[in-house]
Amino acid sequence: MNLLIIGAPGAGKGTMSELILNNYHLVHVSTGDMLRAAVKAGTPVGLKAQEYMNKGALVPDEVIHDIIVERLSQDDIEAGFLFDGYPRTKAQAEDLDLILKELNKKIDCVINMNIDDEVLIKRITGRRLCPVCGEIFNIYFKAPEKEGICDKCGAELIQRKDDNLDSLKVRLEEYHKNTQAVIEYYEKAGIVKDVNADQSREEVFNEIKAVLEGLC
Ligand SMILES: [Zn+2]
Repeated sequence: MNLLIIGAPGAGKGTMSELILNNYHLVHVSTGDMLRAAVKAGTPVGLKAQEYMNKGALVPDEVIHDIIVERLSQDDIEAGFLFDGYPRTKAQAEDLDLILKELNKKIDCVINMNIDDEVLIKRITGRRLCPVCGEIFNIYFKAPEKEGICDKCGAELIQRKDDNLDSLKVRLEEYHKNTQAVIEYYEKAGIVKDVNADQSREEVFNEIKAVLEGLC
């Protein structure tokens, strides 16, 4: 079973990826993790990636291509894999198909974590953290009993700098702009499965399980 998971910031993609990996024993293919590992190991491709990162530039598609080919050529991949955070553009999706074809593989299913932007905005801008005990609150969904104060330890809650509305709107816009084309690309292949991500963690995972059981 070869899967791909797509979801906007705040949609819960990370949590669902973890649950899928633990329950179905798939190999996690995360281009971010692979890049960091290649850089750390100092492989030829890692050194190339490092050059771009040092300049503060995006690592270009051809370098990521090489990293993916390297990863997908390893034996453990036979058990099936879950792509997470890639492809982000239609060009990357086309390239990934070529790589997979070469290896006699294909994507079986694209899990699309569907959720309204308004909910994501509340999830992210409403988030408040306790800097002392690490408890996470949300002023819309899980408000502390006393405003701005941690229920557990009484510390003053903080909001992460990145969790503000302006930076989130930019991230969401960027996400939709690129992802729409990726989803349409896979819709043509008839392999996109929409999952309602505006539910509890258990409910979302149950929907995903139902989708995956349909594949087996
Ligand atoms: Zn606390």
